[in-house]
Amino acid sequence: MAAPKSKLPRLSPSRINTFLGCAMKYRFQYVESVPGLPSEAMVRGSFVHRVLELLLGREPDQRTIDASREDFDAAKREFLVRDDFRLLMLDSGDEAAFWDSSRECLRAYYRIERPTEANIVELEKWVTTPLGDFEIGGFIDRLERDTRGLIVSDYKTSRPKPAHFSTDNFRQLTYYALMCETQLKETPHSVRVYYLGGGKDEFARDARVVSQAVTPTTLGEVRDTARRVFASIASAESSGEFSTNVTKLCEWCDFKEWCPAHGGDANRAREEGTTRVNLRRREAGLPIAS
Ligand code: SF4
Repeated sequence: MAAPKSKLPRLSPSRINTFLGCAMKYRFQYVESVPGLPSEAMVRGSFVHRVLELLLGREPDQRTIDASREDFDAAKREFLVRDDFRLLMLDSGDEAAFWDSSRECLRAYYRIERPTEANIVELEKWVTTPLGDFEIGGFIDRLERDTRGLIVSDYKTSRPKPAHFSTDNFRQLTYYALMCETQLKETPHSVRVYYLGGGKDEFARDARVVSQAVTPTTLGEVRDTARRVFASIASAESSGEFSTNVTKLCEWCDFKEWCPAHGGDANRAREEGTTRVNLRRREAGLPIAS
């Protein structure tokens, strides 16, 4: 689903998080649009989201086990022809493991929620709010309601993280709460992450479902952070100086080979990244992107 056009410059919650994590990574990803290769974890996350979107898009009494099997198969047919899935180039054993691990995430979902009882208000809803010279906008994965009001929630197919290690996830969801406040004229009372990874029976429901209250303080913090990040991006774009932030996350950074902090040449990223992706596309039998 494409985002609607805007007259104002727009930041999404994920752009803000990327810049906060590492300005150089932001440069590679959003300023230079260096094409990246999908990872198995990313594609599994998208696949599980899609199955749950299909399932929870049904009327509550139709969200049966049989329906979830149909939705799994429908999503699988979609993914088998999607570029990101094909670019993984999984052999038959790895592909079987991919579907098994996705099923495992869905089993974890069933252990923490009865889909027939989920009170879903919206799925994949576009929301936006202006913040002076710019706006923030994005798609909410899932907006639900309980007796206290709205909850902005999302699934993660990673292992559960306790609330104090979920701050990035909470911050991202709090942007959506801010956008709901403007657009729906109702402030969600909480943000919530459903962690679906990490194996069979290792985690209790309380470990997998982690929430944070939405308060004037948390809304004010994300509003201030968005303004600060917007100003910092404008300054980095005009000076051309994007700082690096070396952490253990660099091991999973798709742009590490061109990162100056790791001895790379940032100016080669766009050309070499395009070549790398085109080589993979050719190997995967996909047309070369122009
Ligand atoms: S390798 Fe690390 S420092 Fe370099 S761009 Fe990626 S995240 Fe930033």
